[in-house]
Amino acid sequence: MVKPRGPICNLDCEYCYYLSKETLFPGSGFRMTEEVLENYVRSYIEAQHGPEVTFAWQGGEPTLMGLEFFETVIRLQRKHHRSDVRIVNTLQTNGTKLDDDWGRFFKEHGFLIGLSLDGPRDLHDRYRVTKGGGPSFDDVMHGLRLLQRHGVEHNILCCVHEGNAGAPLEVYRFLRDEAGALHLQFIPIVIRDNDTGFQEGSGVVPPSVGSRQYGEFLVAIFDDWVRQDVGRVFVQIFDEALAAWAGSGPSLCVFQETCGLGLAMEHSGDLYCCDHFVEPRHELGNINGTELADLVASEKQWRFGMAKRDTLTRYCRECDVRFICNGGCPKNRFETTPDGEPGLDYLCEGHHAFFRHIDGPMQIMADLWRSRRSPALIMEIQTREDVELPSRLAEISRNARCPCGSGKKFKHCHGRE
Ligand code: SF4
Ligand code: SF4
Ligand code: SF4
Repeated sequence: MVKPRGPICNLDCEYCYYLSKETLFPGSGFRMTEEVLENYVRSYIEAQHGPEVTFAWQGGEPTLMGLEFFETVIRLQRKHHRSDVRIVNTLQTNGTKLDDDWGRFFKEHGFLIGLSLDGPRDLHDRYRVTKGGGPSFDDVMHGLRLLQRHGVEHNILCCVHEGNAGAPLEVYRFLRDEAGALHLQFIPIVIRDNDTGFQEGSGVVPPSVGSRQYGEFLVAIFDDWVRQDVGRVFVQIFDEALAAWAGSGPSLCVFQETCGLGLAMEHSGDLYCCDHFVEPRHELGNINGTELADLVASEKQWRFGMAKRDTLTRYCRECDVRFICNGGCPKNRFETTPDGEPGLDYLCEGHHAFFRHIDGPMQIMADLWRSRRSPALIMEIQTREDVELPSRLAEISRNARCPCGSGKKFKHCHGRE
């Protein structure tokens, strides 16, 4: 994750955890120089062993670098390109600065764009505001329509906070039907009540989402999605869950057993353990003095990654949904387990309730996937709106044909005990 403009942004979202990083770089102009950029592009490509190299441009607001900067990015990627790898660019933006030139550029160079949108106007504008506190919804929607008009691949990143968590279906259906977004990510907002966000023993402040509230938000959207949108709308946490239930393991760092591959690089070339740990204790060094690969492979980063697994509480180690949850993100592990052990994920209650709730449908979808059939066949299970899915499955006659489309009797397929 690279931040060519550092924490500089034209918006002032109330829950932003990154704007305050400005204090880490006193006197900086917050613009990545071409020298740092070329050093990064070269060493990043050189360090890859897989067939694909993904550059993830982030902020702050990366489009504030201007289009010329990203034209230079493309030029340098071509200069240092290796024939055995494919280069992919992703960029996370608030969307307010996009115009046709950006649209043409993203399309021509195959950028995948993440756009931040928190739901319909009133919910979005609750916290995603301009420097003067004004609304940003119209500008974001303009940016979204522009991406769509130019055929740019995009997904929506929706932050879940106390302002929109109580309206899950309103948010989901707006993003799906009115925004026309088919790839969605829901990001829980958790803000600590101290300056750095990393000190021990502190709680959360508004507009953080409540843990149980977050779980209920996901449950409501899942129940809507599983009836009509499987295979049509892609929700990141549902995909992660399906991968885990199918036995291939989650790919998102938050749900993996260890972390350590989600590093963040600032405009100066300073490299940090993770985007959520951009602070002096977690600085690894600068790519202008040390090869990127050496910093990534450093003992400090290795310890950071392993600590996620090694500090897992006993409560988590014995948890029935550990295989998908893995104790959540370490930045949120500031709660105490029921038996008094510190280090429990603040989102534990919500995650646990959600993962337990989706167990029945996930088992079916994972079975379908393993047998090379579409998980979307789960929608053929006839539903009664007032009954939860696990109960509906229990209503199917054991001798009836399995609704997954296998042709077998239900008792020999998804109804087997
Ligand atoms: S758009 Fe992103 S970087 Fe800018 S203030 Fe909002 S959350 Fe922060
Ligand atoms: S600390 Fe959290 S966000 Fe960072 S790599 Fe680990 S799980 Fe991911
Ligand atoms: S649901 Fe709670 S107890 Fe279970 S692994 Fe996650 S954080 Fe730990």
